[in-house]
Amino acid sequence: KKIEPKKDVYTIASDSAFAPFEYKDSDGEYKGIDVDLMKRIAELQGFKIDFKFIGFSSAMQALESGQADGMIAGMTITDERKANYDFSDPYFQSGIQLAVAKDNKDIKAYKDLKGKTVGAKVGTESADFLEAHKDEYGYTIKSFDAADQLYDALKIGSIDAMMDDYPVIGYAVKQGQDLKTPIKREVGGEYGFAVKKGQNPELREMFTEGLKELKRTGEYDKIVNQYIGSGS
Ligand code: GLN
Repeated sequence: KKIEPKKDVYTIASDSAFAPFEYKDSDGEYKGIDVDLMKRIAELQGFKIDFKFIGFSSAMQALESGQADGMIAGMTITDERKANYDFSDPYFQSGIQLAVAKDNKDIKAYKDLKGKTVGAKVGTESADFLEAHKDEYGYTIKSFDAADQLYDALKIGSIDAMMDDYPVIGYAVKQGQDLKTPIKREVGGEYGFAVKKGQNPELREMFTEGLKELKRTGEYDKIVNQYIGSGS
């Protein structure tokens, strides 16, 4: 189905560091599953985009204020968010998980977090999960604007544990970061492309149509496998 774009260029907000979905490569270019999907969908559906890699909560704010038309940032579709955003069809099945340093021996269950400091990125599903369970498990939450700060904090030991989306932790482990995931992941939500509620409906539709096309042709699998590898 062909939908007519209503703008010359759509501004798309994204996270600044959320590998393998979006990350700045050593050549200075942003790459990742979200980046490739968005670019190919724009090509297929015949619209132009201007990508802004500004961070997860900044991207949500940019949508709110109208500085961005759409957002792709490994954003989980939740009922709460549906009050403020309209989502495309889901494009990736995810979930959140706790990570600790590889040599950590005392955190094996959520109850072991008593008196510990746990980090997460502002505005994320992980941050919401930690907030919802902090009285139950007795930890303190430390918030970070960007993933590099979060992962560095765990590395230098200024936090005892952190929470993030499991494919992102998995990618970091594959890249050689000294992390491990002692607790089973939380059954997770699906990622969607978002527009502000009631705004740019054609953009959301074009995303869903383009996604269907990429799935039909097998290009979706190629893109995902290029970054994640099949079976993971
Ligand atoms: N999937 C998580 C969320 O939607 C994290 C997204 C991110 O950090 N870019 O909250």
